[in-house]
Amino acid sequence: MPAQERFPVAITFDVEMAAKNWPYWDSDWTGRKHLIADEVKLYVDKINDLADEYDAHVHYFVMGAALQQPDIRYLRDAAAAGHAIGNHTYSHVSVIAKTPENLSPSYTRGDLQVGNRSPRQVVEDEISLTHRLIQEELDVEPVGFRTPGGFRSGTIANELELLDFLKSLGYRFCSAAYDGVLPEGADATTAAPEVFARCIRDLQPFRYPNGLWEIPLMGLTDCIAFRVFKLMLNEWLDAVAIGLRTAIEDDLVFSICCHPAILAVVDPHLHTMRLIFQTAAATGRAWFCHYGELCEWLDERA
Ligand SMILES: [Zn+2]
Repeated sequence: MPAQERFPVAITFDVEMAAKNWPYWDSDWTGRKHLIADEVKLYVDKINDLADEYDAHVHYFVMGAALQQPDIRYLRDAAAAGHAIGNHTYSHVSVIAKTPENLSPSYTRGDLQVGNRSPRQVVEDEISLTHRLIQEELDVEPVGFRTPGGFRSGTIANELELLDFLKSLGYRFCSAAYDGVLPEGADATTAAPEVFARCIRDLQPFRYPNGLWEIPLMGLTDCIAFRVFKLMLNEWLDAVAIGLRTAIEDDLVFSICCHPAILAVVDPHLHTMRLIFQTAAATGRAWFCHYGELCEWLDERA
């Protein structure tokens, strides 16, 4: 079978501070994911500059609470440069929470109040508020939704109210499916490339019954790779390279979910992005897109 005309490559970033990854030597994790460090903001600038060299749009998923911080210049610049801004809830809330305790540390700590709302209502309020903040603060329309945390396939498919709510906001996708699990007894360093490749093959976009696309967190996230698998940068890059090769050879979509707060520490010179751009560009059919653009492509082929 001839290769598809286009090789879709979607690089995505969840803009939030990440536990135990920023900085490594600081064990005092506040759980306040919305307080974006200045260095992370500068890393976002570097991402935008490099993407520009490849005419690429990346996808940022942002938290509403981060948009209420005094300095959001970095996000305004990203939006103005044409990168997609997606909704990542207001306080990094668990969208499947059934009890107030499971929503997010912001509620258990008392920074935010549940009041007499149900967890479902809190989740919807967080998504609506973030939707509005993206429009008001960044002057762009939000492009889709990514759940805080990834879920095994099937988990979100059962959250019919959530999927319908996202659709009612005009979103065309939910990005939630994730499966970067180390096989039992396996050595993380040895297994990482195969896990990455498996998660590219098994986690391709699919449609929920209500028409919304699921665009999974394919491969390994940087979070799992560095925090759980404890990879070194070169081991991570090897795994990403195998994932790319799998997508190219099997004619699949390649996407990746990273966090500027993590890569700023472990990959300050953007080797991850350079590897993806260079490897994909060498195919001669790379298409560096965000998820909104990817949805249009998926619609055409459905
Ligand atoms: Zn997140």
